[in-house]
Amino acid sequence: MPDSLVNRLATWYAGEKHRYEFRLERNPYRTWITEIFLQQTQIAAGKDKLKTFLKRFPDVKALAKGPVEDVLAAFQGMGYYSRARNMHRAAVEIVKKYKANVPVVYADLVKIPGIGHYTAAIVASIHGGEKILALDANHARVLSRLYTIGAAQGGQAFREAAVRAAAPLFETKMPAGDVNEALMQWGQTICKKKPLCDKCFAADFCAAFAAGRQADFPRKAERAEALEILWLMLVHRKGNKYQVFANTGKFPFLAGELMFPSYTVLPETRSKKAAAETLMLPEKIPAALIRKSLAKAQNLPADFRHTITRYKIAVKMMFTDTSQPGGKFLTPAELKDKCHSSLMQKAIRRLDKLEF
Ligand code: SF4
Repeated sequence: MPDSLVNRLATWYAGEKHRYEFRLERNPYRTWITEIFLQQTQIAAGKDKLKTFLKRFPDVKALAKGPVEDVLAAFQGMGYYSRARNMHRAAVEIVKKYKANVPVVYADLVKIPGIGHYTAAIVASIHGGEKILALDANHARVLSRLYTIGAAQGGQAFREAAVRAAAPLFETKMPAGDVNEALMQWGQTICKKKPLCDKCFAADFCAAFAAGRQADFPRKAERAEALEILWLMLVHRKGNKYQVFANTGKFPFLAGELMFPSYTVLPETRSKKAAAETLMLPEKIPAALIRKSLAKAQNLPADFRHTITRYKIAVKMMFTDTSQPGGKFLTPAELKDKCHSSLMQKAIRRLDKLEF
């Protein structure tokens, strides 16, 4: 890679670096939390929530102390509640194992629950100077266009090609953290889905631009087939309280969340011979109750629809007189407060419209 590309990148980034407030007052803890907040969220949408979160949980000890309900509440509206739970679990581990200091070594970071390659690479490169490419969608866009990387995004071949392409940037005087952040910001502000090539400081280095093929990169992997599934919710009420169960992870969706007793069937698409997988929460809802409820639900429209990854879910809610052993009973107000997933929030809003 010609040295002048890194010079241009460094010059451009010097003027851009201070665009975001969260870069001003940094330490490994704040960088970690910032990355979790801003993953898959527009910076503009996430930054106020992030500020409030960091006020409430200013360091690892405060976050470990939780309680986890407060962490979830402070994360409300950001989606992906497993991230908030993992942040809390990670903080507990960091307090125990690292005396409340967020490690800055990549190999240590990726062992912590909920910290994946991207976050570990960002923290390790910014605070530990490690030369590791943090490959998110922005990095992927920029590098694939600069070098017309033909492998499909997300696969091993793409990752390897991107790492090879970025390696010379890390061998310069530009700090490793700045390389990662500059590439990210380049992808976010200039080399966007619809790239602003006329504003790009490196258009003369860009192979896709030279070939007029910006729209061909990054090459998308084939989409997994969408699967239509039914999710039966068995709603049981005692007085003004409803029975819910914590999903310990055996039910395939919304691990860690409180949910109405549920039953679903996941179609097995890889082999037509393989049986469809049936799952329920709690694990042992009597088969007769499931059969009866399914028969009733068959001719009813879905109460609502929801999409989780490639599953297009039709949720049908049925009142039942039968409670299941265990679980807990909550009022509608408590449900609204303690069930964080948007799917359960939709179900709670439907309660008034259900017929006994
Ligand atoms: S010239 Fe266009 S496609 Fe190439 S890196 Fe710049 S913005 Fe992206």
